[in-house]
Amino acid sequence: MSESSRLGDSFMERQLYGPRDANVSAPTELVPGLYYIESFGNVGMVVTDEGVVLIDTGSPSNPFAALGPLRQITKQPIRYVIYTHGHSDHAANTQAILYEASQRGDPRPHVIGQKNVLRRMERYAEQRDYNAFINRIQFRIPQQLPAFPTTERFVRPDITYEEHMSFRLGGLTFELHHALGETDDMTWVYIPERKVIFSGDLFVSSCPNIGNPLKVQRYEVEWAEALEQMAALHADILSPGHGPVLRSEAINDSLLTVARSLRYLHDEVVRRMNLGQWQEQIVREVQLPSELAQHPAMAPIYGCPAFIVRAIHRRYAGWYDGNPSHLSPASTAAIAAEVLALAGGAQLMQRAQQLMRTGDARMALHMLDFVIDGTRDAVQKQQALEAKSEALKQVAAKETSYIARSILTTSAETMLQAEPQQD
Ligand SMILES: [Zn+2]
Repeated sequence: MSESSRLGDSFMERQLYGPRDANVSAPTELVPGLYYIESFGNVGMVVTDEGVVLIDTGSPSNPFAALGPLRQITKQPIRYVIYTHGHSDHAANTQAILYEASQRGDPRPHVIGQKNVLRRMERYAEQRDYNAFINRIQFRIPQQLPAFPTTERFVRPDITYEEHMSFRLGGLTFELHHALGETDDMTWVYIPERKVIFSGDLFVSSCPNIGNPLKVQRYEVEWAEALEQMAALHADILSPGHGPVLRSEAINDSLLTVARSLRYLHDEVVRRMNLGQWQEQIVREVQLPSELAQHPAMAPIYGCPAFIVRAIHRRYAGWYDGNPSHLSPASTAAIAAEVLALAGGAQLMQRAQQLMRTGDARMALHMLDFVIDGTRDAVQKQQALEAKSEALKQVAAKETSYIARSILTTSAETMLQAEPQQD
């Protein structure tokens, strides 16, 4: 069977490649043979006369995010899939890629990842429900939609490496470099013959998402080192994990701005820890210098510097916050009941409303929490919950970080649907 009849206008093609408007753009050619598509999780495509190398697999909401666009430009078999890391917006569509290869009669593509990808995928299998739970909050995914890919969609790499590996295909060299950054399993790829970097999420066109309030520890200094290594290559093109491609001088300007920002925050947190400062003071006082904070590569639209400060502190410190009252505290409900008995629920509610009217919804939240956590009056509690929902929306409206906004807004919406207080 010829390739064209295998890939003709058949049922299989419709199944595999989906409608042309399936939420992904057509591939953009970076240099001859090298393409990328912007998806929720960009995909790099290197097309050679010996086959295709895919760098990541695209949005988890569309299993054919990479295949549909790829088959608009080539019928070559996919030889390798490289994971820049194991997050679901990059590594959850390989099942469809393997299926397509088997349908076409191609050899099974190799899947390459840094060895920690394996451990991540084991963790995802073990903690799938937890990941769905936090994804619902972070991405505001409604209950009726799936919030995390099924375990089968995370195809394990059959080729792993530790620090560096390289291979050749179609006259090109693929240099793979391990880095710690947003995850512990990151790979960035350099193709020296074309001077092109595929950075994965080591560069995401905005402030690094290091201090994600819902996720495991991330790595600020190592992230900066990886960005500096990339900058030293003076590449012509950088194709990022999210956002638009960078070219020529913009590459090093952006990479080194992010690296400098991460080093600044690291140094400042550590300097203050050495002075004996506790987390609250550090979080309140550490800020990026304005020339770094205002650079587009540090735009706080997804992650934000305040969260990075928390993450750096968490990395090097324990959970004790410096106040011995909090070492073995009374329960939140018991403390709230004491305050409520002294101040009175009506007064606290009134003060909260006043604070919301004068633009301090953040302080209003604390007043309302004394009522919500401390009251035994169901009507009063419901009123306080409704006020809190409103205050959360006010706070969210001032947030630039998508993640912060999502947590605030998801809470504002869900707290009125169910009994929030749990033992
Ligand atoms: Zn990503």
